[in-house]
Amino acid sequence: MKQKEDLQETGVTTSVFGSQEMLKSAPTDKIPQKPTTPEIAYQMVKDETYAQTQPRLNLATFVTTYMDSYATKLMNDAIAINYIDETEYPRIAVMCAKCINIIANLWNTPEKAKWKAGALGIGSSEACMLGGVAAWQRWKKRRQAEGKPCDKPNFVISSGYQVVWEKFAQLWQIEMRTVPLTTEKLTLCPQEAIAMCDENTICVVPIQGVTWTGLNDDVKALNDALDEYNKKTGYEIPIHVDAASGGFILPFLEPQKEWDFRLKWVLSISTSGHKYGLVYPGVGWVVWKDKKYLPDSMSFSVNYLGADVTQVGLNFSRPAAQILGQYYQFIRLGFEGYKAIQHNSMEITKYLHSEIGKMKPFRNYSDEVTNPLFIWEMKEEYMKRGKWTLYDLQDKLKQNGWMVPAYTLPAKLEKTIVMRLVVRNGFSRDMADQLLSDIAAAVAELDKLQYPTPSRIAIESNIKVKGTVYTHTGK
Ligand SMILES: *Cc1c(COP(=O)(O)O)cnc(C)c1O
Repeated sequence: MKQKEDLQETGVTTSVFGSQEMLKSAPTDKIPQKPTTPEIAYQMVKDETYAQTQPRLNLATFVTTYMDSYATKLMNDAIAINYIDETEYPRIAVMCAKCINIIANLWNTPEKAKWKAGALGIGSSEACMLGGVAAWQRWKKRRQAEGKPCDKPNFVISSGYQVVWEKFAQLWQIEMRTVPLTTEKLTLCPQEAIAMCDENTICVVPIQGVTWTGLNDDVKALNDALDEYNKKTGYEIPIHVDAASGGFILPFLEPQKEWDFRLKWVLSISTSGHKYGLVYPGVGWVVWKDKKYLPDSMSFSVNYLGADVTQVGLNFSRPAAQILGQYYQFIRLGFEGYKAIQHNSMEITKYLHSEIGKMKPFRNYSDEVTNPLFIWEMKEEYMKRGKWTLYDLQDKLKQNGWMVPAYTLPAKLEKTIVMRLVVRNGFSRDMADQLLSDIAAAVAELDKLQYPTPSRIAIESNIKVKGTVYTHTGK
């Protein structure tokens, strides 16, 4: 009887916003005692997912926010597929291997085997971890064979590292040695990196598309310096390239540039398929120069899925839809199609870079645009008499729907406040003009202020403003 009443309370005739549920807070701690209708559940969940901005106006993220409707359909159709069920979906495992082959060849792999050595990840984070662990395992094996201790591994990276490397260091207890970036050295200095190496160094990690600045570390110079150092010392310190962004830019826009497997000591490279690989999140890739650099200790075999399945990765089950998305993009766009999209992103970035550089308050951090993103800061003389900061500009732009983050640079440069723009597939010259006009209008308004803003006062008195470090950037 009780049950019947309850059903009448929220029954088939109840409208969603006429229901009891809409008068209550959504569950926070406990699972609700009773079910509700799918319409109401849908509405409650949906209403908590309002974006604070239009995804395509979010110029903070590197992650794909636009795919065409066929790609979207393919991925939606595959939403229920678990990648690890290789026996149920054997062709998806093959499709994944094809993607690895294609990427390995874009990076000039010398590997002759039909299937190149690589792995799928949820993003660059997992791919970086796998590259790092492989380097650690190889180092350990060599040390053990020499009867030497293996308890103090380290790796070398610039202070412009993405947060994943801090996780890698913490989770596997591998010391992270950072080469500071300075106003003179905007990217990893090869000599300083070498000076931090020793017998316990598992690898050096240059970055292509430094998250903080958009610049590329010079992998070739590092490779050459390392070659000399390895010859001198007898060590075999390799390079893992974190090419989260650059991995899908360089092959198309700078094919002549040697940053990849053409270099002797580059043994592994990782990238984010969901950044300039042009796929919705989450997909990442790691490729080794040859199977022999992927330690057996990282391949796990299970036999309970109906066949022996060998797998490299931190996750076991994972969505397969992203593989379909990646393979679709390769087929749909081809080399020329990727090149055209990355070219346009670069052209629009260069245009924005040049226009922002002309605005009175601003100075670009670097004259170079190497990836489709750049940062700028406030001119010193402007900073001295101004009443506002880039944080205020960030807030103003947000009112127009734009997400353009302001943040401080890493250690040794932490006093420098910058603003960053990331241009992705789906951003046009017309949108760039709208953004520039909104920036100009915001600056004109901020310039009229009679009194300094709270963020300005805080900076002047050296107070750390809560929440000023923009978390969306991954730091
Ligand atoms: C984005 C990024 C990562 C992390 O990648 P996810 O795909 O978000 O996991 C790692 N390194 C660099 C340089 C990045 O830009």
